Amino acid sequence: MALSSQDIATNLAAVDTRIAEACRRANRDARPTVIAVSKGQPLAAIEAALAAGHRVFGENRVEEAVAKWPALKERFPDVELHMIGGLQTRKVRDAVGLFDVIQSLDRPKLARKLAAEMTAQNRVLAFTIQVNTGEEPQKGGVVPSDLPGLLSLCRDELGLAISGLMCLPPADEEPSPHFALLVKLARRHGLETLSMGMSGDFEVAAALGATHVRVGTAIFGPRSG
Ligand SMILES: *Cc1c(COP(=O)(O)O)cnc(C)c1O
Repeated sequence: MALSSQDIATNLAAVDTRIAEACRRANRDARPTVIAVSKGQPLAAIEAALAAGHRVFGENRVEEAVAKWPALKERFPDVELHMIGGLQTRKVRDAVGLFDVIQSLDRPKLARKLAAEMTAQNRVLAFTIQVNTGEEPQKGGVVPSDLPGLLSLCRDELGLAISGLMCLPPADEEPSPHFALLVKLARRHGLETLSMGMSGDFEVAAALGATHVRVGTAIFGPRSG
């Protein structure tokens, strides 16, 4: 059953409180930004989060985002929309037209296509590179050993604004070693943004230094579809 607007506002506040507590316990001053992951959620749920003052959202499929967000962005121009799912090159045009940040940059062909499309549309997006910290064959993300090469292509050759790294640890593993690896890789390459942590582990991620957590079900409840 869909949550009420009041439930969603309450959940947003509860996530903030849990993050604040986790940061306090870890002696961290900075708090991560909460990306409200609205994939699979009805428009009413997104409207409720917007009414509660939330402005940073994440989606994982281009078609779904294109169906939901252009009208909302017109009404709420200060929304920041993050693409957090795997991005196919044939969807790059729509993605560049809609999103503000693409978190799932993970291969040279995609980087080249994004750079060309930003020039064509005269739009500037920010990026994080997705790292496949668990080296899972079926999962998106660059494996850690290929990160330096991809970073140098993106930054030096294509001039893309790479703000940091993103990861999605294997579902059946303890997430903290993966978060720690992401922190180490970001440090090594002078990158600030660390997008890590979801509904089940955002406090762990916040304690380890996440600058962004991606939270869906803990805010909106179960997804349909
Ligand atoms: C769906 C999704 C999330 C949010 O997952 P929840 O468990 O609902 O918080 C975070 N990151 C990515 C990449 C996702 O696809």
